[in-house]
Amino acid sequence: MARYTGPVCKLCRREGEKLFLKGSRCLSAKCSFEKRSYAPGQHGINQRVKLSEYGIQLREKQKVKRIYGVLESQFKNYYVKATRQKGVSGENLLKILESRLDNVVYRLGFAPSRKAARQLVLHRHFLVNGRLTNIPSYLLKPGDVIEVREKSRKLNVIHESMKRVKDDTMLPWLKLDKAKMRGEFLDVPNREDIPVQVQENLIIELYSK
Ligand code: SF4
Repeated sequence: MARYTGPVCKLCRREGEKLFLKGSRCLSAKCSFEKRSYAPGQHGINQRVKLSEYGIQLREKQKVKRIYGVLESQFKNYYVKATRQKGVSGENLLKILESRLDNVVYRLGFAPSRKAARQLVLHRHFLVNGRLTNIPSYLLKPGDVIEVREKSRKLNVIHESMKRVKDDTMLPWLKLDKAKMRGEFLDVPNREDIPVQVQENLIIELYSK
């Protein structure tokens, strides 16, 4: 399973905004973007590039791929799937990305970042509807129940991460029972309930060329 293994803070600097890829570090003074909010590389600090229409669309696509930790081939597959569904293709794309198991594990607070969630899923710490599931890209369906496996309930990384969430402040399409370390994917989210600042229509325009 391919994944990006380079320095992740450079991705934020390349996109010119914080993508929150490193959990608690992103909220601390150690955040690289807080210290150097210019593009990486020798000439990054002096870069004043006016992007073309294509460039703007490309940057938006790269940004979304990086937020969700998805590589090009899988992202393209999601695009194809999104265009075949009813409704607005850009919104469908985000809904598919939000339905991924690693994203939901992160949203429920079981992991400090999507990258950490991916690792935890790969290391077999979660059950979906009572069955062990170690596929980060597994797409959840409404009503699916995600829980931390019994023998993984003492893991410090999960407990530390769960401090940042409360049962009653969950996104409306998720339900969390913190005491039982269990969550439910209630429904595929509406666009307005996906807290990601992107212009997904630009990605559809890019791929439709
Ligand atoms: Fe981005 Fe987080 Fe690194 Fe800051 S600490 S640059 S938000 S990944």
